[in-house]
Amino acid sequence: MYIEFVISYVLIGILAVLLAVVIVLQCIILKKMSRGGSHSNDVSYGSYSKGNAYAGANRGTAICRNCATQFDAAHVVCPKCGTPR
Ligand SMILES: [Zn+2]
Repeated sequence: MYIEFVISYVLIGILAVLLAVVIVLQCIILKKMSRGGSHSNDVSYGSYSKGNAYAGANRGTAICRNCATQFDAAHVVCPKCGTPR
């Protein structure tokens, strides 16, 4: 009887330790993933927006800040709403 109790307690203890380790590992992995994901997302978004602006400059088109109309970069103001670009 005593040995069985000891074995069951040891098994419960091992399970508890394993659960704690899994939870801690999950927290660490989630933190790493969130940090890395957000970081890579920021980098990709920045490069994407930069590329877009560069391509727009090359094509000679501009996008209005007020109404988001795409118009020729030769225009100083938006032909639709008159907002200077
Ligand atoms: Zn406009």
